[in-house]
Amino acid sequence: MTRYVYDFAEGGKDMAGLLGGKGANLAEMVRMGLPVPPGFTVTTDACREYLETGRVPGELDRQVHEHLTALERAAGRRLGQESDPLLLSVRSGARYSMPGMMETILDIGLNDQSVLGLARATGSERFAWDSYRRLVQMFGSTVMGVDGTLFEDALARLKEECGAADDTRLDAPELVSLVRQYKDLTEESTGEAFPQEPAEQLRRAILAVFASWNGDRARIYRRREHIPGHLGTAVTVQTMVFGNLGPDSGSGVAFTRDPASGRPGAYGDYLANAQGEDVVSGVRDAVPVQELERTDPGSFALLLDHMRRLEARYRDLCDIEFTVERGTLWLLQTRVGKRTSRAAFAIAAQLAQEGLITMEEALLRVDGEGLSRLMFPRFAASATTEVLARGIPASPGAAVGAAVFDSAEAVRRSAEGEKVVLVRQETSPDDLPGMMAAEAVLTSRGGKTSHAAVVARGMGKVCVCGADGITVEEHLFLTASDTVREGTVISVDGSEGFVYLGAAPLADSAVMNHLESGSPEPGDDSPQVVRDVHRMLTQADAARRLEVRANADTPEEAARARRFGAQGIGLCRTEHMFLGERRPLVEAMILAQTDGERETALAALLPHQRLDFTAIFEAMDGAPVTIRLLDPPLHEFLPDRAEVAVKAARREERGEPLGEYDRKLLAAVTRMDESNPMLGLRGVRLGLVVPGLVEMQTRAVAEAVVARVRAGGDPRPEIMVPLVGTVEELVLVREEVERVWGLVMSEAGMNVACPVGTMIELPRAALTAGRIARSAAFFSFGTNDLTQTTWGFSRDDVEAAFFSAYLDKGIFDVSPFETIDREGVGRLIEIAVSEGRRARPGLTVGVCGEHGGDPRSVHYFHRAGLDYVSCSPFRVPVARLEAGRAALRPAPEGEGD
Ligand code: PEP
Ligand code: MG
Repeated sequence: MTRYVYDFAEGGKDMAGLLGGKGANLAEMVRMGLPVPPGFTVTTDACREYLETGRVPGELDRQVHEHLTALERAAGRRLGQESDPLLLSVRSGARYSMPGMMETILDIGLNDQSVLGLARATGSERFAWDSYRRLVQMFGSTVMGVDGTLFEDALARLKEECGAADDTRLDAPELVSLVRQYKDLTEESTGEAFPQEPAEQLRRAILAVFASWNGDRARIYRRREHIPGHLGTAVTVQTMVFGNLGPDSGSGVAFTRDPASGRPGAYGDYLANAQGEDVVSGVRDAVPVQELERTDPGSFALLLDHMRRLEARYRDLCDIEFTVERGTLWLLQTRVGKRTSRAAFAIAAQLAQEGLITMEEALLRVDGEGLSRLMFPRFAASATTEVLARGIPASPGAAVGAAVFDSAEAVRRSAEGEKVVLVRQETSPDDLPGMMAAEAVLTSRGGKTSHAAVVARGMGKVCVCGADGITVEEHLFLTASDTVREGTVISVDGSEGFVYLGAAPLADSAVMNHLESGSPEPGDDSPQVVRDVHRMLTQADAARRLEVRANADTPEEAARARRFGAQGIGLCRTEHMFLGERRPLVEAMILAQTDGERETALAALLPHQRLDFTAIFEAMDGAPVTIRLLDPPLHEFLPDRAEVAVKAARREERGEPLGEYDRKLLAAVTRMDESNPMLGLRGVRLGLVVPGLVEMQTRAVAEAVVARVRAGGDPRPEIMVPLVGTVEELVLVREEVERVWGLVMSEAGMNVACPVGTMIELPRAALTAGRIARSAAFFSFGTNDLTQTTWGFSRDDVEAAFFSAYLDKGIFDVSPFETIDREGVGRLIEIAVSEGRRARPGLTVGVCGEHGGDPRSVHYFHRAGLDYVSCSPFRVPVARLEAGRAALRPAPEGEGD
């Protein structure tokens, strides 16, 4: 026989899968002997069975009845009895918290008789009839399907008739008449009377909560939060207690530490003579929970004591909902509380210091995403900035600009130097130019995988999406209290999801300032957040096996990477060194028609490259610097083909002959034009086709090494060949590198080694890694290209065009360019690692695609046995932290394979 119902006393906090988070935590509190109104939980199994088969599981009614009888016996009252009735709440409670997404029904057990009993027992007729009208309203709309606005309209009409400013002004006779109206309109719209039988109310309420798992709101929320749809919800059935029975009653929420800053102490709100819903909905202003100490010191002392015990039991910040009913304290709910990134670091460090958790556990309580939020400048909290809206923090950072409502306007204003925020209901590929021009993007619809969110993250733009408190119209947006017109300055906080009116003052990130200072330890006057982050990073460095290197192309980036803790450069892209004032030299190299011309051009480039490398080696002295030979197609260094062609056509029209240079240029851009440059003449193919290119780059590296050694430095060069598909390509380039290297070293009388390795960026390279490894001193996975070529995606084309649709349809739950696709790209990586190391034991293997700085991917690379990850300097601290966490938790939740 399947158990579908558990008394609170029968569960525990580790049973959230079966009892839901709420049910499991209530059970834990009962176990601890805390004052919890008695009740029972109907399992997620029952919900799943009901939703899958459409039938109530055979045993469910009997088990509910059994538990109800036991509850009644213990209470000495029956559900809905005529005098002093037992009343119940019926609430949803899923494995993962889905606040406000499913249904709740309170005051089950009230009917035309028991309402009178409740009035007598509590001595308040008003209270009893108010509870009854709430039941009819909640039950009517949730269980019986009555349109909720009918109830709201009836209430509004009555208030108007009675001249009552709000619900609390309605007296008992008025509420009696309201209940009558509610019941009538329920019967009119459903053809069925409001059920008077308490057991039937309970049964139907439980099924309605099950069904709410598949309600629109819940489904959208789950998709957005990646909560699996098959889990189902549990239902907790609990004895009602009332915080609205007079001044000696009240309701509150409290945190065991400040969820914003992490500071210990009781934080929260309390509202005397109110139900929990009133605190949450903000109809009346709550007071700090400390107020309770003044009005009811006994309950307050008990509350503090319970909070201490809960924190010790959960070994974490807990948030608690409580009610005081005529001087008796009840705990209605607890859970491990949500917190800001700042608080996450503070609390982890404090709990470790207090000995409640180990430092390793502390490290697992923080994450790279939180750290990266702390590294952005943020808005200084200020009383003068009005919160306009709150949405989903989709892409972190803080930005200020004038609100604009279409892409063209964003482009126009930003071209004039104005900072703008693009505000849209949702974005589409047509909005791309505007998104690029804007400082931030704000949308009223869509979640973390919406077009706006995906594209903004890709661009590194601030983004808040799904701000459903705003209505976006053509040239303005509306909030509950404001109208924001085009041109109005607003501030968008993509880290926390807030939107403010006006230019909110920006505050530097203390963490960033500390990292930028490069000082190994925080100073005595460093803010606490800096110390907390420092402790976690130190712990991560001690724990991690993965090395962390940086992708850096300039001495400045190299220096920053070092300050941020990079242990070398894993990718120095040389193409940027071919731009700017050097472009004419590159052009000359490409246009060269004779060996002599090409040699002259290359010889002119050589000293520039040498200086570049010398400065980078200096910044990374003593640490490896992996220099990649030129990768992009050469036409990227030439003017745009269309431009050159148009210019030529115009001259022709005017009858002017084309100059020698322009003719060559036109011929070259035409010759080099590729329909698919990503798969064209680039990478190692260039080195094999353009004579002298590999020689020049190698010579520049080697001569830079010589210069550094002569200056007393310790350069550690590595040369890396891009886009290799077959070992033959690598062998040819490698021979050339070794030849030139040997020449320079012997000219200088030195013997500095330079390992030559390869990038693995093509499926063929991964699949033939065993052969390639025999000629490669190291592998570095170029996961950007490997993802493109494995999926057949051209990143620049596909991301903005259809990724959000793919995410919405659940084809993937995160862009494969953001987090490594373990199943496909990962399989190639695993083949390459194992075949590469089999052919060459001890082969060093790293990754230098953008995934090297992505938290989830770092965990994967740790498990795949890589030696290092390399990422942009700003991601280095994140990668260090996550590499440490990965070493402590080899298979993070949701990634078990
Ligand atoms: C890669 O492909 O992952 C890589 C690092 O090279 P690039 O991004 O320069 O193509
Ligand atoms: Mg690449």
